[in-house]
Amino acid sequence: MIDRTLKQLAQALSAKEISSVELARLYLDRIDRIDPRIKAYITVDREKTLAQAAAADARRAAGEAGPLTGIPLAQKDIFCAEGWRTTCGSKMLGNFVCPYDAAVIERFNAAGAVMLGKTNMDEFAMGSSTETSYFGVTRNPWDVGRVPGGSSGGSAAAVAARLAPAATGTDTGGSIRQPAALCNLTGIKPTYGVVSRYGMIAYASSLDQGGPMARTAEDCALLLKVMAGFDARDSTSLERPAEDYARDLEKPLAGLKIGLPKEFFGEGGEGCDAGVMRRIEEALAEYRRLGAQTVEVGLPSMKLAIPAYYVIASAEASSNLARYDGVRYGYRAPEYDDIIDMYMKTRAQGFGEEVKRRILIGTYVLSHGYYDAYYLQAQRIRRLIAGDFAEAFKRCDLIMGPTSPTTAFRIGERVSDPVRMYLSDIYTIAVNLAGLPAMSMPAGFAEGLPVGLQVIGDYFAEAKLLNAAHRYQQATDWHLRRPTIG
Ligand code: GLN
Repeated sequence: MIDRTLKQLAQALSAKEISSVELARLYLDRIDRIDPRIKAYITVDREKTLAQAAAADARRAAGEAGPLTGIPLAQKDIFCAEGWRTTCGSKMLGNFVCPYDAAVIERFNAAGAVMLGKTNMDEFAMGSSTETSYFGVTRNPWDVGRVPGGSSGGSAAAVAARLAPAATGTDTGGSIRQPAALCNLTGIKPTYGVVSRYGMIAYASSLDQGGPMARTAEDCALLLKVMAGFDARDSTSLERPAEDYARDLEKPLAGLKIGLPKEFFGEGGEGCDAGVMRRIEEALAEYRRLGAQTVEVGLPSMKLAIPAYYVIASAEASSNLARYDGVRYGYRAPEYDDIIDMYMKTRAQGFGEEVKRRILIGTYVLSHGYYDAYYLQAQRIRRLIAGDFAEAFKRCDLIMGPTSPTTAFRIGERVSDPVRMYLSDIYTIAVNLAGLPAMSMPAGFAEGLPVGLQVIGDYFAEAKLLNAAHRYQQATDWHLRRPTIG
């Protein structure tokens, strides 16, 4: 049962092979048994989960079940869920029980999905390894000495270790795609504005986007259909007709033009591991066998993506995180003199190192005298990067390359070297700056560790991305491999 996809689980539920309560219990028992070794979850609440599962069974008995009714899912602890502790991986929100549901949670609830728990993440989604979480490090089920990637590392580890059949993530600079790559999953970051950010704790609002992490492209299509949709409560939510993201899954790939950016493949260019690159080349060969052609494209401004991103993301973070002041909710320092002292102690004690670093950078680049030199400059680079992609998509349908320059790295290896950590997202970050959709999918192994192939599309090309991924998954079985844990 635990190796089944969402589609297969839905069939099992509708065939009455298993009830949602039984299915939820199966996963909860596995979490009890295996999660102490992985630490994918921050919060599990057996009673709440089983009550939701019982409601799903009742709904099915009443003949009102949809494709996700009774399906257990793990939610990244960045999504507010009524009555659930929602921490965003921070001590600052360590005691915060949410009074309302995020739009994404509302939509899953309406579909009858069952929440298994809240997954671990880098504090406020700042990181690429889940090591900045206040709640401890999540371990990669493929090698528990290594990181699962981040910031959605808890979600990725949960799905990889079969502690959930699928999960949600959020991607500001790569946080769905990179952990999906490091844990052998399929994950998609939609076009900016497709999934509502209402109730999704803000990191860098112009870059943050929620999306699904699952084992197959087909499952991602199913989840994205539920997650996507206009929401007036999010001012950047896009008003578009509802889409069936699975509509093109089976379309043959004959004639598909795949763009290969020379900046991804160029000699020594971005420092991609040889073992990773070999798997990517093999995946491209598979695409050619499936009828696709490859063309070289250029993304000349890509090299500026990391610096521009860290200016913009930090600027937005410094503003978004100003709300954590100890007054309204979350942590408050136990002892202080006056209100200023209370703010200062609360923030000094409540935030971790990486978050403080971002707030400092963000406040600096937004300050009078530096705003033009850094923030405005970064915004201009952002425009150039979007322009590069627009040019590239005149010559190809999709862009492909590695998701991450390395496979999962060792716990502790990069924590003390922020720049090295930031380079983990070298292939993913430009996509967020441009607001494009992109995904990562399993493409084999290098020294026993998963390698992810990244596929980038033009705006609203989610169905095309999922089609390309699905056809590849019909031809290969990398995505079906699972780690030997429990
Ligand atoms: N690693 C990047 C950062 O730390 C991206 C994180 C994310 O996508 N949330 O900002």
